[in-house]
Amino acid sequence: MLISIVVPCFNEEEIIGRFHQRVAEELGSLGHPVELVYVDDGSSDRTLAILQEIAESGPRTRYVSFSRNFGKEAAMLAGLRNASGDAVVIMDADLQHPPELVHRMVALHEQGFDQVIARRTRKGDRVTRTLAARAYYRLINRLVDVELVDGVGDFRMLSRRSVDAVLELTEYNRFSKGLFAWVGFSKVTFECENAVREEGSTKWSFSKLLNYGLDGLLSFNDKPLRAALYLGLLLLAVAMAYSAWIVGDAVVNGVETPGYVTLLVALTALAGVQMMMIGVVGEYVGRIYYEVKRRPHFLVQATNVETAAAATQQRQGRELVRR
Ligand code: UDP
Ligand code: MG
Repeated sequence: MLISIVVPCFNEEEIIGRFHQRVAEELGSLGHPVELVYVDDGSSDRTLAILQEIAESGPRTRYVSFSRNFGKEAAMLAGLRNASGDAVVIMDADLQHPPELVHRMVALHEQGFDQVIARRTRKGDRVTRTLAARAYYRLINRLVDVELVDGVGDFRMLSRRSVDAVLELTEYNRFSKGLFAWVGFSKVTFECENAVREEGSTKWSFSKLLNYGLDGLLSFNDKPLRAALYLGLLLLAVAMAYSAWIVGDAVVNGVETPGYVTLLVALTALAGVQMMMIGVVGEYVGRIYYEVKRRPHFLVQATNVETAAAATQQRQGRELVRR
């Protein structure tokens, strides 16, 4: 059984060499051959040069380098496409996903599980982020059709058939947590300690996280649209009740002209709600816009993956487009 390890890297020059060494040390005793698939996500530092050195010094190391930063989702997709293993592990380059856990993953995989998922505790995370995450997962699981679990990231092992299933999903807006959950197959989750990043810095700013969260909400369901519909109906009912009350009041007590504040509040509130709902619709239209363009998810500027393999993939890609 060949095991591929997919590693997205974006500006990881400080740690990538050490990462490779650790993986080589840890997985030499695995009892299975291991292939490494590094994806350089348009780094502006020496990441690519280091990857090329690594690839030259040892066999079974592939690298794919993007023409610019396309994001981790695209990098993972490229890694999965270029992995030839019977099982694939996706792992961060910053050693937050301890390589020694792969032993456990392989053992569980051999018991017949298609997806072996590491679930990290949130120890050492900032309290605000932990609370935000908890609230977010409660909300999202009420909304989306697939089940998403807090603490579960991209660190997991996938069987060949689940990798192939994920690769069949060619959508442009990729939300891997959802995609992995969507393909299904047998899953097992195990807990692991939260490791703190040793070198370099996280690439997630608050706004990036917020947008990622929104993507998750919007890319897996159309329930926000349904919510807009209900909210509209609710507002209509409130307005009708209120107007009935005003008319009744006028009949009983006579007409009183003022009502300036009520008018203004109602007007601005309604304008706000309307704009928000247009925004929701706009989000979906925007997604359609990107999907119909059918642009590639990434562009490769350098790679050592055999041209033959690349050619097959291109052919498969074209077939998918034709279908
Ligand atoms: N990464 C990437 N492209 C990006 C951002 C991040 O390939 O645009 C990679 C990064 O090199 C790392 C992994 O994704 O291997 C996770 O990134 P990071 O450690 O910054 O995220 P965190 O662990 O804080 O969630
Ligand atoms: Mg990290």
